[in-house]
Amino acid sequence: MSDQSDDRTGEALGFATRAIHAGFEPDPQTGAVNVPIYASSTFAQDGVGGMRGGYEYARTGNPTRAALEANLASLENGAHGRAFSSGMAATDAALRTLLRPGDHLVIPDDAYGGTFRLIDKVFTHWGISYTPVAVNDVDAVRAAIRPETKVVWVETPTNPLLNVADVEQVAEVAHAAGARFVVDNTFASPYLQQPLALGADVVLHSTTKYLGGHSDVVGGALVTDDAELDTGFAFLQNGAGGVPGPFDAYLTFRGAKTLAVRMEQHCTNAEAVVDLLVGHPAVASVLYPGLPDHPGHEVAARQMRRFGGMVSLRLAGGRQAALDLCARTRIFTLAESLGGIESLIEHPGAMTHASTAGSVLEVPDDLVRLSVGIEDTADLLADLEQALG
Ligand SMILES: *Cc1c(COP(=O)(O)O)cnc(C)c1O
Repeated sequence: MSDQSDDRTGEALGFATRAIHAGFEPDPQTGAVNVPIYASSTFAQDGVGGMRGGYEYARTGNPTRAALEANLASLENGAHGRAFSSGMAATDAALRTLLRPGDHLVIPDDAYGGTFRLIDKVFTHWGISYTPVAVNDVDAVRAAIRPETKVVWVETPTNPLLNVADVEQVAEVAHAAGARFVVDNTFASPYLQQPLALGADVVLHSTTKYLGGHSDVVGGALVTDDAELDTGFAFLQNGAGGVPGPFDAYLTFRGAKTLAVRMEQHCTNAEAVVDLLVGHPAVASVLYPGLPDHPGHEVAARQMRRFGGMVSLRLAGGRQAALDLCARTRIFTLAESLGGIESLIEHPGAMTHASTAGSVLEVPDDLVRLSVGIEDTADLLADLEQALG
């Protein structure tokens, strides 16, 4: 069922084909073309220790989850995939596999708020220290590395400022220091960017976002080519239990199948939104890696297929103008999260990134973040136009 070397799921096939087929073959018994939701917490054994299909207890493994894991591994062109109950559960498992008391890690100075909170409020109590750096500045990453640095962690593009890290260069810097390199690929999705091929040791996803894609399920994943790391991740799936149930795994797999077509439309709509915002009198600046004057544009053009569906902007009228914009849109729904088919708008300083207030990771209060959905382009533009006034 999770055989990735099969004709229909091998690496030679295109991304959209693998998104649909990798991880599950039509069921030999019933012909079902979709993976069943195996709502079974335990699996009958033929004699003590005699597992039939490799399953014994669903925290350790479940066939629906295994199908999703094989699919996600294929999309990142990785050898091993592991699914978790959320992006944060995946983050937690990655950090606990890679770090021991006394170790240090480098993180983005505009990291996802929850990632920063977990490291700052939990891992520091267990003897882990960290340095936030601008990950678009490879010299700053190099300068932040200490003898005890075991992990360099980047997001690219970053959330919510859409800075771009050069994955290939940061990989070199991390590996020269003997550190492992983790890329949170949530914003780009594997359709736009595949960090393992550029030197990352581990790719992390909040599958809640583009991979699930329909704002109906929370999940996370870790993909790696390193069998030893994967064994560590699997150990924590079983040992700590942050795993998705079969229904969540099914929904995430169902979403992943359409990632290619959804991402194309997210990118097309985001580009149109950027065109509208650039030069609008109410807008002070637009943050989007597709803009030629974006500081990370060249790197993004090299390592990404297109520039993604996330757009941030700073309002000329400051914090109040940002809050007003969030209050006035009708199709862009005021909500946290991102990557779903519906367009969302939010104020990071008061919402997703409120936990960074007062820290070096604090975000500007005139900032608004858009997750541009796949509705009709003209309707999205009209909504923003009326809301900007
Ligand atoms: C949402 C998000 C996470 C956390 O994932 P959850 O599924 O919400 O736990 C991690 N990294 C990034 C970049 C995110 O956007």
